[in-house]
Amino acid sequence: MNVVMRVAAPELTGQLARGVETLALRMKGRIITTGDTDYDALRAVALGNWNHQPLFIARVQDAADVADVVDFARRNELEIAIRSGGHSVCGHSSSAGGVVIDLRDLNGIDIDTAAMTVWAGSGLTAGEVSAALDQHQVVVGFGDSAGVGIGGLTVGGGLGYMARKHGLTIDALLAAEIVTAAGDILTVDEGNHADLFWAIRGGGGNFGVVTRFKYRLNPLPEFTGGPLVLPATPEVVTGFVTAARAAPEELTTILIAMPCPPMPFLPPELYGKTVLMGMMAYAGPAAAAAVALAPFRALATPFADLVRPGPYSMMYLPEEPGMTPAVSVRARFIDDIDLKQATDMLERVSACPAPMRMAQIRILGGAAARVPAEATAYAHRSAPILFAYLAMDGGAEAAARNDRWAADGIAALGTSAMAGTYVNFQAEQGADSLDQVYPEATLERLREIKRRYDPTNLFRLNQNIPPAA
Ligand SMILES: Cc1cc2nc3c(=O)[nH]c(=O)nc-3n(C[C@H](O)[C@H](O)[C@H](O)COP(=O)(O)OP(=O)(O)OC[C@H]3O[C@@H](n4cnc5c(N)ncnc54)[C@H](O)[C@@H]3O)c2cc1C
Repeated sequence: MNVVMRVAAPELTGQLARGVETLALRMKGRIITTGDTDYDALRAVALGNWNHQPLFIARVQDAADVADVVDFARRNELEIAIRSGGHSVCGHSSSAGGVVIDLRDLNGIDIDTAAMTVWAGSGLTAGEVSAALDQHQVVVGFGDSAGVGIGGLTVGGGLGYMARKHGLTIDALLAAEIVTAAGDILTVDEGNHADLFWAIRGGGGNFGVVTRFKYRLNPLPEFTGGPLVLPATPEVVTGFVTAARAAPEELTTILIAMPCPPMPFLPPELYGKTVLMGMMAYAGPAAAAAVALAPFRALATPFADLVRPGPYSMMYLPEEPGMTPAVSVRARFIDDIDLKQATDMLERVSACPAPMRMAQIRILGGAAARVPAEATAYAHRSAPILFAYLAMDGGAEAAARNDRWAADGIAALGTSAMAGTYVNFQAEQGADSLDQVYPEATLERLREIKRRYDPTNLFRLNQNIPPAA
C-alpha cells in the first residue's frame, strides 16, 4: 500500500472546463472542483494512506447523473474513481487528476417487510442500513464496521457476522441497478443480464457503477452479541477456532488479537498488552446463545464478557469521526491454525510498533460455504478461515514498515496455508495479486464479461480485471 503525498491541485481549463460546466447544468447533483470550499472535505477518504486530488468530484443524485458523468469521462479519457463509503484499502475511491463519482447522496432506502426485500442506495453505509433494518427486526449481513459503504463491500462479496447463518452480503443480493461503461442504466438479476449480475457478486467495481442494491431480508427477531475478552495464549486461540468451527451456524465469530484498549470495563494493568477479543454474533434466542457460547466462556476466565441480547447494530464498535489512520492489511484464506502459528501470531502482534495492530481470524463455513463456488464471482466458498494482519498508524514510513510486518506475518503462516485471498482485503495489485483473488476459471469468466460490458477498461481503478482479448 502506498502513501500518496500532496501534489499541486489539477486545474480545469479551456474546452474541458466548458465541458464540465455543461455537464453541471445537465446534472441534478453538483460538480465540485478545486475552487470549491468543500473540495478538500469531499475528496478525503477513510484511510490516511491516500490524499489524491481529483480534477472534479461529481456528487450525483441519481442513475441518470451517473450515466452523464460516465459518458463525459469516457469522451474526455478521464480516469473514473467510484466512491461509496471511501474505505478502499487501495485508495481506489479517489483519483489523482481524474473524476470521482461520489455516490453518498444515493441514500434512499425502501424496506418492504411483506416481500422481505430492501432497495438501498449505494451511497449508504453498512451502519446506516443495519440501523434502519433493526427497527423491523430483519437483517442483511454486512461487515464488522459501520462506516464501510455497502457499495464496495457488496461488489467484493461482504464477509461479516451473518456469514455462517445467512452467507455473504452477495448471497442476499437479489438485483442491482447499474450504469455500464456505455452509459446504459440496467437492472440486473438472475433473469436479466445474468452474466453481469454474476460478475458484480465478487468482481468488484470492474463492471459499472451500481446505484441501488436489492437485498433479501432475513428475519432476526432475537440477537445476542458483543465482545468476549480472553487471555492471549496460543491454547485459547486454537481452542477458540475449534469451538467456532464446531458451533451452530447461528453463531459467527471474529477472533482478534490486539492491544488491550483502555476501556473502563477492562483492568488497567492490561492496557496495551495483547488480549484476545472474540466478537460473538448469535442470530437467535438468548437461551440458545448461552448454550452456544458456553465452550468459549470455558476456554479461560474472561477479562470481560459484554455479550448480551440487543439489536444487530450493536456489533459495530464505535468509530471516532475524523480519524483517518494509514492502514496496512494483508490477508489469506487458511485451513486451520495450530499452536505454533498461534504462538507466532501473538508474538508478532505484541512486537509490532504500530499503536493499533491486530491479527483477525474470521471463521467462515455454514451458509457461506454451501453456495457453489461457481454461483458467484466470490469463489473461495470452501475456505474455512480468513486470516488477516492489520495495522493502523500515521505517515508514509510507518505505513511502509507496517506493510512489511503484515506481509511477513502472512508469509510465516507457511506455504501450505496460502490458499488465496479476499478481494476486499487485497492491498497488493497487478496480475499476480489477481491470481490470488480469483481461481483461473472465475477470472476467465470475469474477463469475458468485462470484454462484453467494458471493452476499453473504463472502470480500471479497482483490482483490475483486464477485458478478454
Ligand atoms: C475499517 C475497515 C473494515 C472492514 N471490514 C470489512 C468486513 O468486515 N467485511 C468485508 O467484507 N470487508 C471489510 N472491509 C473491506 C471493505 O469491504 C472494502 O474496503 C470495500 O471496498 C469498502 O467499500 P466502500 O464502499 O466503503 O469503499 P469505496 O472506497 O467507496 O469503494 C471501494 C471500491 O469499491 C468499488 N465500488 C464502491 N462502490 C461501488 C458501486 N456502487 N458500484 C460499483 N463499484 C463500487 C469501486 O471499485 C471502489 O473503488 C473493511 C475495510 C475497512 C477499511
